[in-house]
Amino acid sequence: MASSERSYFAGLDIGGTTIKSVLVDEKAEKVTDIVEVRSLVDKGYQSTFEQLEEALGLLAKDAGITVQQIKGIGLDVPAANSDGVIWGKANLASDWVGKNIRQLFSDRAGVPVYMTNDGNAAALGEYFVRRKHFGSLMYVAPGTGLAGGLVMPAGEIYNGSNGLALEVGHISVPFREEDGELPYCSCGWHGCLEAWVSLVALRRRIKLELEKDKWKDHPLNAVDAPIEEKAFMLRDFAESNDELAIQIFKQQGYIFGYGLADLIRVFDPGLVVIGGGLAETSFREPYLQWVLEGFEERAWPIYYRSPIEPDTFTTRFEWALGGDSAGALGMAFAAKEKFG
Ligand SMILES: [Zn+2]
Repeated sequence: MASSERSYFAGLDIGGTTIKSVLVDEKAEKVTDIVEVRSLVDKGYQSTFEQLEEALGLLAKDAGITVQQIKGIGLDVPAANSDGVIWGKANLASDWVGKNIRQLFSDRAGVPVYMTNDGNAAALGEYFVRRKHFGSLMYVAPGTGLAGGLVMPAGEIYNGSNGLALEVGHISVPFREEDGELPYCSCGWHGCLEAWVSLVALRRRIKLELEKDKWKDHPLNAVDAPIEEKAFMLRDFAESNDELAIQIFKQQGYIFGYGLADLIRVFDPGLVVIGGGLAETSFREPYLQWVLEGFEERAWPIYYRSPIEPDTFTTRFEWALGGDSAGALGMAFAAKEKFG
């Protein structure tokens, strides 16, 4: 077939600062590298549509095809939505809320569009890059928040009735601060899992610990930097085995695993993929051990050790493979599955 007759499918992953995009062909093979353009989500959805069109143009140019050969688009946004209708604004400008963004962009682009949220998009990306995986897959990614998504065995995302499923960051966990209080969560509630395992949680923890006498001589106390920067520096400290850094990440990992035990008891996914920035660090293996400690503390043994030989494990844990391209890849693959 001449290349001008071939069909292609685009994945567009809208983040707070960049839009990442990629193109796949009819065989779900990647045909371009990831192309990035600026995200203008805070300027309104019309400005974002222009950026999406720019990304589509760049993808077509990279692949040596015309934009008209793109026959379907997968689109994800960092906000809860139901088949394209945005529920709440998060980092978006307020004109997004209540609009059917999927339909509006589909009308403008003249091709069908599939839309979901960023956690689901990354979950789909991790599913599709594991070409030989046919079971279900639960994706969890501690970052600024705690994203999640559940892919069912046929490669379909579990959306729930309203597109609101797998808000895994906001299940409650039975842990309290040393003063007996529950930590504040970005959702406005207290004591959520996210309030213990996210980057925001890390900042709170560092601040609390550095005020203690025990750490008054810790090098981070001598650094004149905002807490956001110290939180990133803590990863470097953990990589060089610093006692404070290890203590903090150990607590985060343990509580993360403890919370995951309940999610695994509900969904029994078989495979749990952990994404987010920690997946890129050299201390991810000890971190995973702390996650497993928390998980095995809370879960019944049947959730981690199969009584039926030779299936030794009932739940496997893996690090993400897609990096920060997972969302764009997931959306491109999903578009090919739905519209190819
Ligand atoms: Zn919460």
